[in-house]
Amino acid sequence: MSNLQCDTSRAVPSVSSVLSGWGNYPRVECNVFFQRRIDQMQALLRTDSATGLIPRGLGRSYGDSALNADGVWSQTARNRFLSLDVETGCITCEAGVSLEEIIEVTLPHGWFLPTTPGTKFVTVGGAIAADVHGKNHHRDGTWGQHVQRFSLMLADGNILECSPVENQDIFWATIGGMGLTGIVLEATIGLMKVPSAFVQVDQRRAGNLAEAFDLFMETDEQYKYSVAWIDCLSQGRRLGRSVLLLGNDADADTVQAQGYADPYQVPGRRSKRIPIQFPGLAMNKYAVKAFNELYYRRHGDKQMLVDFDSYFYPLDSVQNWNRIYGKRGFVQYQALFPKEHSREAMTRLLEIISKSGQASFLAVLKSSGAANRGMLSYLFDGHTLALDFPYRGAKTERLCRELDQVMLDFRGRVYLAKDALVSAETFARMYPRLDEFRQLKKRIDPETVFRSHQSDRVGITETL
Ligand SMILES: Cc1cc2nc3c(=O)[nH]c(=O)nc-3n(C[C@H](O)[C@H](O)[C@H](O)COP(=O)(O)OP(=O)(O)OC[C@H]3O[C@@H](n4cnc5c(N)ncnc54)[C@H](O)[C@@H]3O)c2cc1C
Repeated sequence: MSNLQCDTSRAVPSVSSVLSGWGNYPRVECNVFFQRRIDQMQALLRTDSATGLIPRGLGRSYGDSALNADGVWSQTARNRFLSLDVETGCITCEAGVSLEEIIEVTLPHGWFLPTTPGTKFVTVGGAIAADVHGKNHHRDGTWGQHVQRFSLMLADGNILECSPVENQDIFWATIGGMGLTGIVLEATIGLMKVPSAFVQVDQRRAGNLAEAFDLFMETDEQYKYSVAWIDCLSQGRRLGRSVLLLGNDADADTVQAQGYADPYQVPGRRSKRIPIQFPGLAMNKYAVKAFNELYYRRHGDKQMLVDFDSYFYPLDSVQNWNRIYGKRGFVQYQALFPKEHSREAMTRLLEIISKSGQASFLAVLKSSGAANRGMLSYLFDGHTLALDFPYRGAKTERLCRELDQVMLDFRGRVYLAKDALVSAETFARMYPRLDEFRQLKKRIDPETVFRSHQSDRVGITETL
């Protein structure tokens, strides 16, 4: 955040600040509210509502989903734990509590997150709004499938209890609804019992994309967690060569046999810091090619015991790693294709990317299971590929348009939590339940109070 300026003229004071998502693109000057008190925000909604508002967690969505020039309500001050049942693993907390904080409290009792994104610096509200997924989607579904209930502040300031059996239509619109139905105030989540804080990892190298898919298919039943890091600059026979990290929760005996007295205690990790914004030029294709080559060579087939932090959150150990893309920032493009098309479609994507010469560090390939009832939830049965590109204006936008066309040709879709560029027309073709979502939103938010830079861009709100 920068350019802080206090505005006391509104019913509730706000601070003017330039905000962005994790990709640092786009950047928008927003009025930010930091209130923790609900009655103050109810007063704002009842007196000053015409201006528009979007909730914000830890700003880890990549694009513009938590941006709104008129009003952003930061949830980070709403971070209290309300209860934990150590017998059943049910936790109730305010929506600004982070996944990192939950792990700190619950892992010593043998409970871990039911699923987790690739960073733990995400709030419970942000996880619900994006219906986030992890490396075990094919087994355990998304975050939303483990949410037992939440309370939601609506556009008129009233608070509604929602669950899979109470106000279930609003529940399933909010799961994956990117903050557009209202503000999740607090939620109850069912955690997952784990035997230790470690994962037994089977590291396997695949010489190209076809081999990587074969390995995924062969091992789907065998491993709870799976992910592959793909070199997306390799070409020809080596197109899509990758390193798969397949894993299961490690049992306590295995962990203790390796010298860890307490299977839930992980030795501290030192985090590194990127101190400054790198010049954009540092991210040229030669540097990225060299990095990808080194990564592939260094990661041969082997089995290893890895603590949860290193397995689930490898990037969290480098603070502010998003700065390496320079001042103009970067975009993440996450493509999802149905299983029957994923091989062909991803080969097309990788060919386009590789030819474009636009550098992307190792991309992440994951397998996904059945869709849930979330109206705008991202995943269905298929495969997803997530890539980062430094933002270079029209050049990057042209590349993403080309990739969008492949998505449309193969019934794929982009992920709102990552997206900063997709057009309204393309979005509408990717999300068949968009109209149903809009109808519901019209009913509970007729003045379109909850809107974001993204929801206007992709047409969820602009035409209401
Ligand atoms: C390194 C990295 C790795 C990632 N890996 C994955 C991954 O593997 N899988 C995955 O699914 N995602 C992944 N993500 C994306 C991330 O999990 C989501 O974008 C998540 O929503 C971010 O949460 P946040 O608290 O930072 O929310 P923000 O980015 O601040 O907001 C995201 C959305 O949540 C809404 N929101 C926030 N709080 C509330 C609330 N209280 N009530 C209602 N709506 C709210 C906002 O309006 C916005 O639409 C990754 C992100 C990073 C940076």
